[in-house]
Amino acid sequence: MTANSGQQALLLDGREAARSLRENLGATLAAEGGPDVTLATVMVGEDEASERYIRMRDRQADNLGLRTRLLRLPADIAQADLEEAVRELVADPEVHGIIVQLPLPGGLDADAVTGLVPPEKDIDGLTEGNLGRLVRGVTGLIPCTPLGVMRLIGHYGIPTEGRRAVIVGRSTVVGLPLTLLLSARGADATVTLAHSRTPDLATVTREADILVAAAGSPGLITAEHIKPGAAVFDVGMTPTDAGIEGDVDFNSVQEVAGAVTPNPGGTGPMTVACVLENTVKAARLQGRLPAE
Ligand code: NAP
Repeated sequence: MTANSGQQALLLDGREAARSLRENLGATLAAEGGPDVTLATVMVGEDEASERYIRMRDRQADNLGLRTRLLRLPADIAQADLEEAVRELVADPEVHGIIVQLPLPGGLDADAVTGLVPPEKDIDGLTEGNLGRLVRGVTGLIPCTPLGVMRLIGHYGIPTEGRRAVIVGRSTVVGLPLTLLLSARGADATVTLAHSRTPDLATVTREADILVAAAGSPGLITAEHIKPGAAVFDVGMTPTDAGIEGDVDFNSVQEVAGAVTPNPGGTGPMTVACVLENTVKAARLQGRLPAE
């Protein structure tokens, strides 16, 4: 297909955009005198992939001058003891952000644990308080992956006002908040939210100037799903025997799209950078840093 005049699509480089976001955050923190801001992570049980992710993210936090704290708890911890540990972090004025690494080992009630985290310390932005604020358009912490997609759109100056956006996947982690963000005043896109019950997905996605795939279905989006010149964001990260796979068939899609995220190196690094952004914002919401 030569729908984008035979040009290869622009690569929406999430590593580069994330670096820029971190540099801006670092400069802001330095200008504010390098205040002590702490992100705490609760890790229950052992999981090599999660530990690797936390190490990488906390290294980035350290480089910005943020403090990190990792609370390791045994997999067989009682629900009441886990809740008590989270309550202590909630009550600690030196801790500005809390992330409970999910999933929790079987038998533990994750909702009961994350529900203890108040909105202003809820870095993932997934508690009812923060999702409610997002719906109401009130300042709060926005879930990191959809926020990362918005920051990537902003970094590359992709126009959203009056554009058609299609999001594939309606989870509260990605698709639903992104629908709110893209359709909010200021972004002003006209948004369609597709899911597994959407008939003839390709007809729907071909309407999109901005297409976000967040289905967790490897290779779901191919060239036939793309409007020529569209900007395509691949959020999918499905572990397979061949490694982590995205939702977008990159090779065929780049022949038609105007811009596309690589995967890895697209939306993933943006999510991590937005964890750091949310930690700084959390400190502002708690009065540790001046309001923006
Ligand atoms: P989820 O809760 O499983 O939701 C998946 C959504 O996609 C559901 O709404 C589902 O529809 C829809 N869907 C699944 N297969 C579909 C298909 N064939 N056609 C159309 N819609 C389909 O997943 P999630 O937590 O949102 O995560 C989605 C993907 O993003 C996963 O691969 C995850 O690993 C990845 N992820 C990446 C990042 C990042 O930093 N890049 C962060 C978070 C998640 P129904 O509602 O009808 O079931």
